[in-house]
Amino acid sequence: MAKSEGIPAPAVRRLSLYLRHLENSQGRNRATVSSRELSRAVGVTDAQVRKDLAYFGQFGHPGIGYRVDDLVARMREILGADKVRSVVLIGAGNLGKALMSYRGFRKKNFNLIAVFDNDPQKVGEPAADAVCDRIQSLDKLEAVVRKHEVKLAILAVPASAAQVIAERLATAGVRGILNFAPVILQTRPGVTTSTVDLAVQLEQLSFLVTTGQTGDDRDGDGLN
Ligand code: ATP
Repeated sequence: MAKSEGIPAPAVRRLSLYLRHLENSQGRNRATVSSRELSRAVGVTDAQVRKDLAYFGQFGHPGIGYRVDDLVARMREILGADKVRSVVLIGAGNLGKALMSYRGFRKKNFNLIAVFDNDPQKVGEPAADAVCDRIQSLDKLEAVVRKHEVKLAILAVPASAAQVIAERLATAGVRGILNFAPVILQTRPGVTTSTVDLAVQLEQLSFLVTTGQTGDDRDGDGLN
């Protein structure tokens, strides 16, 4: 059973945000943080921080706050971030190429092991430095996913191609898809998708700006 099973999804999402702040604090050699500081960093109340962290265990020390190293280690364990996880990317267009070179995935222990495209002109081109050699034909998708037991994929193909590829990924064993195609994917039980629709998010942001709302639209739902 996953360690975060039964915990509300928004709490799990905030966990990544707490972790990012804590890793920054660790980088600045901070030994402890308070729930107040975490609450400001993530934009929730102190009570919410305490409630969220209580789902995962007793981390707080009265009068001291939260010990950064302990909390980071435990959160990484819960999120599975202490392990290297293999990811494949499908679509090496403008967005896919940017994602391929994005160092943030590496920093979070994600290893991009293969990039696929169906354009013969792109197949064989180098994929980003030291990540995974060359862009491969989509025909190899299932074989690579199965061989390396890949559970995560990033889709950066046009909307028209995304659903079919998502189904192939799921059949081959992928369980999570970060989808940059501007379409909502239909998924089967056991597969989770997260769609990042950059143009829609910019549209939402534009709406917030024109209606005079401020703050950070953390979940991209157009509401602060
Ligand atoms: P981007 O959307 O990243 O800006 P683009 O405008 O260069 O890219 P798109 O048409 O969006 O190109 O396609 C993104 C990438 O997906 C391209 O490299 C294209 O070859 C690839 N692609 C399109 N259809 C498929 C498919 N069915 N299977 C695999 N790759 C595909």
